[in-house]
Amino acid sequence: MTHDISKVSVSLESHIHYRAGQYVSIQSSDTDIPARCYSFAQSNTPGGNQLVSFFVRGVTGGRMSNWLIDPLNVNSKVTLSAANGDFYLRDQSAPVLCVAGGSGLAPIIALIEEAIQNNSAIVDQPLTLLMGVRSQRDIYYQDQINSLGTQWRNEFRFTPVLSDEPVASNWLGHRGFVTNYIDQKTSLGATGYLCGPPPMIDAAMIKMQENGMDLNRIFFDKFLDQSGIKP
Ligand SMILES: Cc1cc2nc3c(=O)[nH]c(=O)nc-3n(C[C@H](O)[C@H](O)[C@H](O)COP(=O)(O)OP(=O)(O)OC[C@H]3O[C@@H](n4cnc5c(N)ncnc54)[C@H](O)[C@@H]3O)c2cc1C
Repeated sequence: MTHDISKVSVSLESHIHYRAGQYVSIQSSDTDIPARCYSFAQSNTPGGNQLVSFFVRGVTGGRMSNWLIDPLNVNSKVTLSAANGDFYLRDQSAPVLCVAGGSGLAPIIALIEEAIQNNSAIVDQPLTLLMGVRSQRDIYYQDQINSLGTQWRNEFRFTPVLSDEPVASNWLGHRGFVTNYIDQKTSLGATGYLCGPPPMIDAAMIKMQENGMDLNRIFFDKFLDQSGIKP
């Protein structure tokens, strides 16, 4: 999908049941690479899904992510854990403010898809999706997001924000940190859903609270990896 994010699909022996926003741990069957967590990038259907997809970013020096996105490993066997996590759509009667960083878009897409698929009351609320990436080449899934937007019954605002786009480029959209675009208009009475790198989530939570959002109405999944481990 981009130079460092791939959509990885897994065909399962039996149907898996999960809530949009949840994740599984994926283990390669043929290597000793430690299992890692990945969030479903699509909603679940009523009977469960037999084909599931993930947005995986190849992390520099990362073992599992680069194994998963390596074309040489297509058709390799993997084992998935049961679905985990409590990142799912809550309040049906409040505006929605989503902030996604990089591959953190995956569970946000699943949440939006699920709401539309279930014809949930939340589709009648305004939704803002702020997507933080480095540069134009990191933007992905735009057509699919626009298509979801046409199915959302209330206002659907999708704003990509580029943090590292060359000053002289042709980009006319938003620049800077995605968290700078969390304001009173998007936060007023909203429930927040954040997913991506831990520093982005920490900054977004501060910004949301500064704009009057309750901490207990902000839900998040931090895409933690091993780089924070102290030797
Ligand atoms: C709930 C959850 C959901 C997630 N969902 C997604 C998702 O949908 N998509 C996605 O792309 N990612 C997701 N992640 C992140 C994912 O689980 C992995 O952490 C990521 O893919 C990196 O794994 P890796 O094995 O490639 O890298 P690792 O081998 O874990 O390495 C990651 C980084 O840490 C460094 N490192 C490794 N070991 C050490 C050490 N001992 N000390 C210091 N540094 C070290 C490596 O050099 C590298 O830079 C999620 C994480 C969580 C917790």
